Amino acid sequence: MRRKWVGGNWKMHGSRAMASALVGAIVEAKTDTVDVAVFPPFPYLREACAACAGSRIAVGGQDVSEHESGAFTGEVSAAMLRDVGCGTVLAGHSERRQYHHESDGQVAAKVAQALTHGLTPVLCVGETLDERDGGRMAEVVSRQLGAVIAHCGIVAFERIVVAYEPVWAIGTGRTASPAQAQEVHALLRSQLASDDARIAGSTRIVYGGSVKPGNAAELFAQADIDGGLIGGAALQATDFLSICAAAG
Ligand code: PEP
Repeated sequence: MRRKWVGGNWKMHGSRAMASALVGAIVEAKTDTVDVAVFPPFPYLREACAACAGSRIAVGGQDVSEHESGAFTGEVSAAMLRDVGCGTVLAGHSERRQYHHESDGQVAAKVAQALTHGLTPVLCVGETLDERDGGRMAEVVSRQLGAVIAHCGIVAFERIVVAYEPVWAIGTGRTASPAQAQEVHALLRSQLASDDARIAGSTRIVYGGSVKPGNAAELFAQADIDGGLIGGAALQATDFLSICAAAG
């Protein structure tokens, strides 16, 4: 039985005061039946880590450099995230792939950096609307997942959370139906299983894309959906916590 995982990606929203209030409310709520992670903007990570110390809430960066260290202005390394107390990090979020042109190879290198430094990578994959309408959904998500399997090896998936995030459902209010999401999660799991059935059976594959308190339970009830990566609804403690409750 896979333990459910729910993460809140705050993107570039909020303020120091909001981050502190949000983390405080989540820590207070005792969400022990589910693994919970929060992904505040970089400047708020240190305080969030301090507030979550001693709780089961993991704190993570929204991105990480593919490089170990060096002259990469504006980048943040996996070692730095670890140094301030992070336990996890997003890799390959569609907004990074889309606006920063991150390639599958770069995303795989980011996942490898995270693993090297003891962070749980949350590998985001997902197709655009054009790709889905063009009948290329399976090819795209399988290519994105395959790049990380090829670079990091299947055993790495003992420590990776996979997030299926159809780009057309992120921040659009248009959620994949539970059946649509389940179909892709099953595809991803069978791709992992073709390398190692045991690892495929234990890897958490979570869904992201306009998850709200009203649709979370039905999505999380699907056989291969092990929780959610939440954007907009993670900015309100009550919404985020009711999504966590739907997973628990
Ligand atoms: C996300 O940013 O990863 C996300 C899923 O956003 P939203 O829930 O707002 O669609």
